[in-house]
Parts: sequence; C-alpha cells; structure tokens
Amino acid sequence: MAELVGRCQHPPYEVGPRLALLLDMALASGRSPVRLLDEDRPDTWKEIDLEIVSQWRHMKEVKCPGCGRPLADHLHNSTLGREERMEDYSVYSVDCLAQQAIAEGQELWRQENKAAIDAHHKGKGPDPGAGVYWLTKREGERLPLPE
Ligand SMILES: [Zn+2]
Repeated sequence: MAELVGRCQHPPYEVGPRLALLLDMALASGRSPVRLLDEDRPDTWKEIDLEIVSQWRHMKEVKCPGCGRPLADHLHNSTLGREERMEDYSVYSVDCLAQQAIAEGQELWRQENKAAIDAHHKGKGPDPGAGVYWLTKREGERLPLPE
C-alpha cells in the first residue's frame, strides 16, 4: 500500500468517453442527454438530466489545481476523444531568473540577519523573516505599489 501514497488517484466518479461526448452534446444542443440517446423518448428534461448536465458543466469550469486546465479535460479530452494519459503531455522546464535572484537575495539577507534568526530559533525574539516580502524588478520597472 505504501507505494500508492502520493500517486495520482482517480476521483470518485468515472466519466467514460461515450458519456462525456453525450454530455458535451447535451450542453451544446440544450437537449436532454436521454433525448439525444433515444429518439423515441419525449424531448423533456428530467431532474436527473439537469443534475448530470449541470455537474458536467461545473466540472468543465473547475480548473485542475495542478496545471490550471479544465479538470474535465483530464477525465475526457474531447479533442482526443478519451481520458488523457501522461504521454499526452510534453514537459518543459523554464528557469525563472527572478525567483533565482530572490533566492540569492534571501541567502544574503539570512547572513546579515544571522544573529536575530539564531535568537528566534532559541525562542528569544520574534521571527525576523515574518512580514518580509520578496519582490523583483528589472531595469526600468517599478516595484508594485499597494492598491
Ligand atoms: Zn492538471
């Protein structure tokens, strides 16, 4: 069981590609998903149809906390016509030079405030890092001003 910790877990619902396509069609057409499946059924929305389609729409609006894409894309990517796989993504890394500059600035700051930091760790004084915010600016840029 231990090897499962930290691995991606599927959410407690499952949307197969066929259902996802049907729900997309229901959203786009404004017709009940049941009606789309069965031409003999009356063209009315039942409470359950509304519930399912509204939950699907909600999932399409909710963003994945990891990558910011619509969460529903991970469960059913309409371009691919299926659930996404890790192989669908190419990975890139970008060096954020502003963050790297901050890391260097923080190291200098820690050296300059070593006595206060050590005192704080011994319970003798406030945390000198509390309330310190780190910003960067380039030549010609202004620091952001509070609104
Ligand atoms: Zn994601």
